[in-house]
Amino acid sequence: MIRITAVETGKARMKTAQRTGRDDRGPVGLKLDIFRDRNWVEPLPILCYLIEHPEGRFLVDTGDTWRNSVPGYLPGWNPFYKQVSIKVAPHEEIGPRLLAQGIDPADISTVILTHFHHDHTGGLDHFPHSRIIGPRDNYAVSTGLRGMMMGCLPQRWPVWLEPELVAMDGPPIGPFPASHPITRDGRILLVPTPGHVAGHVAVVVRDDDVTYFLAGDATYSQDNLLAEKTDGVTNDPATALATLRTIKQFAAHERTVLLPAHDPLAPARLRAREPMR
Ligand SMILES: [Zn+2]
Repeated sequence: MIRITAVETGKARMKTAQRTGRDDRGPVGLKLDIFRDRNWVEPLPILCYLIEHPEGRFLVDTGDTWRNSVPGYLPGWNPFYKQVSIKVAPHEEIGPRLLAQGIDPADISTVILTHFHHDHTGGLDHFPHSRIIGPRDNYAVSTGLRGMMMGCLPQRWPVWLEPELVAMDGPPIGPFPASHPITRDGRILLVPTPGHVAGHVAVVVRDDDVTYFLAGDATYSQDNLLAEKTDGVTNDPATALATLRTIKQFAAHERTVLLPAHDPLAPARLRAREPMR
């Protein structure tokens, strides 16, 4: 028996041009569109997903932190951070949220990061005793100055952080050319979903009668996935589009509930086990 719960850890607002990029734009044009855009989307949830599995409790992504709104937390030299607005109250961080559900963060055996953007790593401080797994190829572009320019805050990561970096070294899974197993029973695994950022991974959870696809930021919403609309922050729109098509192909072959990290409709789909069509 596998149980998945969506845990909302505050809200993120972004420009409409970040949520949905224009098809005819390259990576630079997409970013200029975001800076020019005066329209903000409604506050979007920052979602983490708790997976309760016979081999342990797994958490996918850790959300952001209330410290994001403390002056000086974000690097002032990077104007991109002014294009996103994060609102997390202290009690909305992933640690307090789990405690409110009766789960001690120390009982999370494994944290899986889909990628190292700050709104996925901001809650890592709550898990000093957990195994932390992240994609090797994404970690490679998330550290140092390069990472700080690309939406990561490596200078804010916990001092103890030594993620277990994994490669996509397992067999193909449907249309995905490779995978990486997480559990011994093969029901939780990673698949490569590059595009939003290089090396991004999604988490596939296969329950008896349904498959959950924890998409991270491979897409911001099921609507955008179905319409094959990439986001506006990708440096590689062609790869991002290929990933969207691969996810659609996957969902065409098995009953799949899509669970992105910022889709306001994802928690309801999860409760209803409503598959993609
Ligand atoms: Zn991201």
